[in-house]
Amino acid sequence: MPKDGQKICEQCDEVYFAQELKCPSCDYENRPNVALAALKKPKAALERRYTEALQLAETNGSLNKVKEFETLIKSNAKAVVNLDISVLEGIINGSMRYINTYQLRKIRTVTKHPDGERRRFMVDGFFFPNFGDKMAFAALALDGIGIRPYGNCTITLKEKMIAFRASLLEDDSFQFFEKLENRPAKIAPKLLNGYIATWEDKHKLAVAKLADQITPDDTHEAFAKLLLNDEGKMSDARFIEIHVFGFFNAASIESFSYFDESTLPKKPKDRKEELLRIQELKKRFQK
Ligand SMILES: [Zn+2]
Repeated sequence: MPKDGQKICEQCDEVYFAQELKCPSCDYENRPNVALAALKKPKAALERRYTEALQLAETNGSLNKVKEFETLIKSNAKAVVNLDISVLEGIINGSMRYINTYQLRKIRTVTKHPDGERRRFMVDGFFFPNFGDKMAFAALALDGIGIRPYGNCTITLKEKMIAFRASLLEDDSFQFFEKLENRPAKIAPKLLNGYIATWEDKHKLAVAKLADQITPDDTHEAFAKLLLNDEGKMSDARFIEIHVFGFFNAASIESFSYFDESTLPKKPKDRKEELLRIQELKKRFQK
């Protein structure tokens, strides 16, 4: 039996630590974020939170609505990514891959304030011990709109391209880490138990997090907003974060699901030009 924090290799049945990038015995590739979320303790803690949330909903008379929300998450929730139109064009027209800041640094200078960057490394080091440079971020959404402050184009990823390599976190990782810092307890990986999930368990995480905010009159639009609310600044956004191990290209994109028209240029000529660019990109996804 694997010890605490260890998993059994899918390929050779040997045991190794879930955060390894590869099985040390047979070199079979691991998706450490998924392996960590699939460990016994985080899974059991999530199950407890989920069961408690359902019990509370029953007491409050909102169980049917919570079940409706859960079903909708299971069937309709998708991974969305926000990016700027030029990046999206690079992926769709230029056969580029979507990559993260770590990879970008290898090909060009990313000018960012060093304090912000240090913070990113620290937060990533906690959530992704030794594999932060392999992670891409997405958000769980019901309406394909995403987190607009992160970029005016929203793409929805194909489930089959990410389900096996995605894990979920209750909140934005920066916000979650900040909450941990404000607690008296020492920051330790076990504090993630119950707040991370595999793709298969995403509905349990959504119910555990949001069931107590669901009311009997909620519509599907209300559910979408409850799951992901991007009003205000980037740091105000409320959502379930998706951690994808590795990157993606145009073939991984299911749709160009939203464009934020409030970001269109004011000058009529520029506006028309940008609308044309958007139309061209959208055409690529029409069968
Ligand atoms: Zn192995």
